Amino acid sequence: MTFQPNSPHARDVRYHLHPYTNLKAHEEQGPLIIERGEGVYVFDDSGKRYLEGLAGLWCTGLGFSEERLAKAAYEQMRKLPYAHSFAHRSHPAVIDLAEKLISLAPDSISKVFFTNSGSEANDTQVKIVRYYNNVRGRPEKKKIIARKGSYHGITLASASLTGLAYAHKFFDLPLDGFLHTEAPHPYHGAEPGESEEDYASRLAQMLDDMIVAEGPDTVAAFIAEPVMGAGGVMPPPATYFEKIQAVLKKHDVLFIADEVICGFGRTGNMFACETYGLKPDMLTVAKQLSSGYLPIAGAMVSDEIYQVLKEGSAEAGTFGTGYTYTGHPVSAAVALETLNIYQERDIVGHVRAVMGRFQERLMALGEHPLVGEARGVGLIGAVELVEDKAGKRNFDAARKIGARAAQLCQEEGVLLRPLANDTVAACPPLIIEPAQVEELFDGFTRGLDRLAGELGVAV
Ligand code: PMP
Repeated sequence: MTFQPNSPHARDVRYHLHPYTNLKAHEEQGPLIIERGEGVYVFDDSGKRYLEGLAGLWCTGLGFSEERLAKAAYEQMRKLPYAHSFAHRSHPAVIDLAEKLISLAPDSISKVFFTNSGSEANDTQVKIVRYYNNVRGRPEKKKIIARKGSYHGITLASASLTGLAYAHKFFDLPLDGFLHTEAPHPYHGAEPGESEEDYASRLAQMLDDMIVAEGPDTVAAFIAEPVMGAGGVMPPPATYFEKIQAVLKKHDVLFIADEVICGFGRTGNMFACETYGLKPDMLTVAKQLSSGYLPIAGAMVSDEIYQVLKEGSAEAGTFGTGYTYTGHPVSAAVALETLNIYQERDIVGHVRAVMGRFQERLMALGEHPLVGEARGVGLIGAVELVEDKAGKRNFDAARKIGARAAQLCQEEGVLLRPLANDTVAACPPLIIEPAQVEELFDGFTRGLDRLAGELGVAV
């Protein structure tokens, strides 16, 4: 495509190195430029309106025009635009946010360390795991097991946790000491006739076998998203986490729950730990913590871990990690206001009120001739597109069928996200209203029908 010489499209192609983008294809097709947002909608530079069916990148729980968040940022900027929390310093915004977050978090969690992104938060969790075992005199106990298909970030350590090939290829990753076990994907992974419970037992046994093969004295932690997000929206099979947690306990392996997508109402509870009965030693939050309005994330830990960190820092002279922007006052003020709004408007109650219909429409897409499986929970879901429904056979990846589906849905006014295996995900702002759930799935369905037309498949 040729762009007007000084158009925003041409300048974007000329100067902007994009994250997670096929750079070569970008020079051809240029950007989709989003200019403004309103409620659950965003508008591009031609004025076309889209329902943001993925809440940006699974983050804008309160949509795109929450005045109270803009006001909280403005007021904090005028009062104190910057402060840090190194060397015993603190400020009201970060204190209030920490208190609020701990009051909402699962009982096992007692302290929060702030970062600017989910990647940094998981990177910090890796550092804390190392510190913890060093202070406890177990220098060999350092390996971390994540799951194939997982997404935990893109710093060198958090990308090593991530179990997706595209985050590793050409980056010399994963680093040593990061392992990946099977994640649940019943559609492809369960044996014919195998019950959810038996499948879960098998996966837990695989984890147990891996820990034993590596040597339990060398395995420090296990990390999992309660519902795998970027890896294809994979809710866990019944009894999975119960069995996984028993294995971890048996081998004295810490459990890190990555709630970066699931946290703050997404699954119909404040945290998915509640939805699935998780008792993590460490918890990672980001994204909806500030409704995506400013960068902020948290690496949260149990009191047991905190006590060990305290001991270590006394010996070392300091807990030697922290960012210039750790607990940034403006981000903290916006996050605090976000959490206040979630509570005042009973966002969990709202999610519960609309998620039934969301899941009903999602499951109905499972009947579409191109859809092998529809899966989801709460206000998150996805469909996996297949060439052969009976044989559960995916399309050749090179055909990029999932990306084409998302493109057609975009043309139909709904923004969705194509993931690996031609899986297309929806994860709208939590404030979505019932009529907008219909609008989302009407657009999703029209997009899939058009794709079927292009592929010559009858609908
Ligand atoms: N963990 C999970 C589960 C995520 O989905 C993401 C981002 N999609 C991250 C961590 C990394 O967060 P960030 O992009 O803020 O670094």
